[in-house]
Amino acid sequence: MASITRALRPLSRTATSARLITRPPLSTRLAVSTHAFSTTSRRRDVDLSGLTPTPITFLSETEALMSESVSKFAQEQISPKVRDMDEAETMDPAVVEQLFEQGLMGVEIPEEYGGAGMNFTAAIVAIEELARVDPSVSVLVDVHNTLVNTSIMKYGDAQAKRTWLPKLATGTVGSFCLSEPASGSDAFALKTKAEKTADGYKINGSKMWITNAMESGVFLVFANLDPSKGYKGITAFIVEKDTPGFSIAKKEKKLGIRASSTCVLNFDDVLIPKSNLLGEEGQGYKYAISILNEGRIGIAAQMTGLALGAWENAAQYIWNDRRQFGQLIGEFQGMQHQVAQAYTEIAAARALVYNAARKKEAGQDFVQDAAMAKLYASQVAGRVAGSAVEWMGGMGFVREGIAEKMFRDSKIGAIYEGTSNIQLQTIAKLLQKQYTR
Ligand SMILES: Cc1cc2nc3c(=O)[nH]c(=O)nc-3n(C[C@H](O)[C@H](O)[C@H](O)COP(=O)(O)OP(=O)(O)OC[C@H]3O[C@@H](n4cnc5c(N)ncnc54)[C@H](O)[C@@H]3O)c2cc1C
Repeated sequence: MASITRALRPLSRTATSARLITRPPLSTRLAVSTHAFSTTSRRRDVDLSGLTPTPITFLSETEALMSESVSKFAQEQISPKVRDMDEAETMDPAVVEQLFEQGLMGVEIPEEYGGAGMNFTAAIVAIEELARVDPSVSVLVDVHNTLVNTSIMKYGDAQAKRTWLPKLATGTVGSFCLSEPASGSDAFALKTKAEKTADGYKINGSKMWITNAMESGVFLVFANLDPSKGYKGITAFIVEKDTPGFSIAKKEKKLGIRASSTCVLNFDDVLIPKSNLLGEEGQGYKYAISILNEGRIGIAAQMTGLALGAWENAAQYIWNDRRQFGQLIGEFQGMQHQVAQAYTEIAAARALVYNAARKKEAGQDFVQDAAMAKLYASQVAGRVAGSAVEWMGGMGFVREGIAEKMFRDSKIGAIYEGTSNIQLQTIAKLLQKQYTR
């Protein structure tokens, strides 16, 4: 099977430069930026003054091809397996293999390390398109790319990049291990401890809710190296699956995204070499905050893709298949208004997602935008997937199609990578800062 990202590579540079030349002055907008325009906060160090404004969901040629190719791949290769994987609560290993073959596990990893060397939005597009068909496959790709790969690209030294990136790009799945039984929203109250040893570190503790754990070979683990410093002792380490003392204690049975593995992990005197420290000691909390800010855009993309997938599935049914009172049910105005409202909300969620992604790429502050995108996209996913079940009547409620699955899957958007309350808290905090005299 030809790799999607390999096929797109040569285009990526041409397309990006073409877009940069033709895009227009953001400067005028930015010049009048005041508190009132808080969602387009001041740019930092990137000069975008020569760019022409374009619709926020406009994709470069490479990104558009990524979208089309992933959509085709998901329809042809993943769609036939979605129902069975959900029922079995297992990810088909062949799907994981295909994701690597397609280059979808190293979207932003530079080519020198075996990745596709693409931009963040290309990863977002892939996550969205996968979720349209299966949000479980989508989150596998999302966590691996936006949390694990990004952490190593951003904070790993040259040696760490040489060691881990080629593996993560070509065959080893990664997990991001922050949450614990007693620390969820209050993530930095984590209790997992690390101690220095003669030639490295020893980790003890447990992690909970770890996505991809059944498939992963590499675990990015946050542990406290100096609890006397509180959260400033939190440090990031890389633990390989076969390290003695590391074990998967439990695989959760869940409401939704059931093919995505979610596990409890135990660390019992896990010895790792010095080289498995990621970045600097005591910087783990900063890394986690920064990575999760970006990662949230991925979850927002997952929820947007899910909403569109649920909507399209129902649209097919109401406008092609199901007749009542002598006409297609999608011809009743009562149905049409709901369907139009839902589509509008999906479009609004997409705009927030792409705005956040573009701001991140442009080096602008995007934290509030990412939080708003995740909050809103998960709300839209819940509403649309719920309505889609109703639009399909009994056929939406049975476990034959994907309607009820999308509805179950949608719930997770309001929980992981910061619950909706936590997103609201972030948004409010940033707004208050802007509006406090
Ligand atoms: C399927 C799944 C996959 C996951 N994958 C990962 C992963 O790969 N890696 C990882 O590290 N973690 C992962 N998580 C953990 C996830 O990030 C946490 O579940 C999430 O942060 C919420 O924590 P919690 O479940 O402990 O809920 P709690 O923190 O106990 O929250 C419960 C409720 O209290 C509310 N609440 C808490 N604090 C406040 C507050 N200050 N203000 C207002 N309301 C508040 C919350 O909004 C929520 O409604 C995953 C979770 C799930 C369910």
